[in-house]
Amino acid sequence: MESHSDSWRQAKLRPVLRQLKPYVAGKGFGEISRKYGLKPETIVKLGSNENPYGPSPKVAQALASISPERYPEPEELIAGIAAYTGFPEEMIIIGAGMDGVMDTLTRLFLEKGDRTFIPTPTFSYYEILTITAGAIPNLAPRGPQFEIASRVPTDTKMAFLCSPNNPTGNVASEEEIAALLESTNSIVFLDEAYVEFADKSLIRLVERYDNLIVGRTLSKAFGLAGMRLGYAVAPRWIADQYRRAAPPFYGISCATVAAGVAALSDLPFMRLSVKKIISERQRLQMVVKAYPSQANFLYLETQQESREFVERFMARGIIIRDCRSFWGAGEHHARVTVGTPSENDRFLSAFQEICK
Ligand code: PMP
Repeated sequence: MESHSDSWRQAKLRPVLRQLKPYVAGKGFGEISRKYGLKPETIVKLGSNENPYGPSPKVAQALASISPERYPEPEELIAGIAAYTGFPEEMIIIGAGMDGVMDTLTRLFLEKGDRTFIPTPTFSYYEILTITAGAIPNLAPRGPQFEIASRVPTDTKMAFLCSPNNPTGNVASEEEIAALLESTNSIVFLDEAYVEFADKSLIRLVERYDNLIVGRTLSKAFGLAGMRLGYAVAPRWIADQYRRAAPPFYGISCATVAAGVAALSDLPFMRLSVKKIISERQRLQMVVKAYPSQANFLYLETQQESREFVERFMARGIIIRDCRSFWGAGEHHARVTVGTPSENDRFLSAFQEICK
């Protein structure tokens, strides 16, 4: 099958792909175990903002009785999300992770030549979605406290705001977001992936603004990252179009539906893991003196280059995230997910050694 030349292949591929800087995920157990000859069970993974407590035990029970031969029926899941968020079912849209929700949303709004507004450093998938749609990302640096420092330019089609922001952990205030919404006609996507770890959500603003969509996920507080379940609360006119353009069954599986329904039926479990993570976040923060965070991770400035800093942790079997792949983060920042107390102890003792 080597019949076609490179230039033939290049001519087939969409030219926008040349601008694409691929998504860089946190490192996995397998990669670090192979690279350093470590047993996977000795590795502590604090690089991908997962929840070490996992989901409610009800999830395992629910998964045991799925019918994989049938296509999924997501109605009960949508009802569960509606109950959790307090919004009607018609305003709930779901997808394979929040990534999947954003994929379909950008298909509704972005065309060749459109512009998106992305305050950086932030989650890099917004830029990938923009570029693959043929649109142009406007990467606007955040201010000294990582606040959204500039207005949304008038020609913006879609703005991607993240609060708590990944990787910096800061939140945008209601006043800031409301002022921004008042001043723009663009579609505003507010990513609240980490909101359960924060003091406050701005989801209620969707009642007031018909250009605002708030994205959420069950990957973080609910401990279901591997199940790929995200959702958003959107104005009805957007949710209606979403249902027309989304992949069949919203790209989710019957395992995802069962896991999501079960996780949402056990909010005390989720709240308890969030409480433990927040308390560990405070403990870590006292030692590492990172930027204040309202998420399940801390953003640190590193003395040495972040590449080297992170490598020293990896060599000790502790995976943390080098932030060089985030636009605007520079060469001296790392991100550490808050783990269990014993995982955090491992991190802290390595930190004392590396930073002494
Ligand atoms: N938004 C932000 C800010 C994230 O950090 C992530 C996960 N890395 C996502 C969205 C995607 O979440 P999901 O697992 O639901 O696709």
